[in-house]
Amino acid sequence: MIKAIYPGTFDPITMGHLDIIERSCKLFEKIYVTVAVNQIKSTVFTLDERLDMIRKSTEALSQVEVTYTSGLIVDYAKKKGATVLIRGLRFVSDFEIEFQMSWMNRHLNEEIITVFVMPHGRYTHLNSTVIREVAQLGGDIEKFVPPIVLVKLKEKFQN
Ligand code: ADP
Repeated sequence: MIKAIYPGTFDPITMGHLDIIERSCKLFEKIYVTVAVNQIKSTVFTLDERLDMIRKSTEALSQVEVTYTSGLIVDYAKKKGATVLIRGLRFVSDFEIEFQMSWMNRHLNEEIITVFVMPHGRYTHLNSTVIREVAQLGGDIEKFVPPIVLVKLKEKFQN
């Protein structure tokens, strides 16, 4: 049984993330969707809010377990018995930073293999930042986020 870890900030989870999770479910038996807690990076949603939105968006996927870690991803992966680290690749500009990160992760733990998954073209230009910015200005982002995220964004920005 191959276990994989899909780490990210997920502030908030988008349909792009969900696309990667669904594709990964076809490849691996178990997926840990793991919120990487970063003390430096400030987020709009709290850790609990992000975990709750991911859990609700992935509840139909029995292989998925939603967790978090504040340590090194490779250490957390080892603790969970995961040997694959999943990352999404959208465009060429993602490549450089992702390549560097996977190089460093390989240095930290040779046993963990990074696998890049490409989302559907409709999500190529999507990221959490653009979602937060447009939602804050009251723009229509319904197609790009799971229903629970739409509700939470409205609560956050329209009061
Ligand atoms: P973001 O890049 O939106 O801040 P995260 O830090 O949560 O997202 O990213 C976690 C992983 O998900 C990264 O590998 C990132 O490249 C990937 N990802 C984010 N948005 C998308 C998308 N629209 N399509 C595919 N992968 C994505």
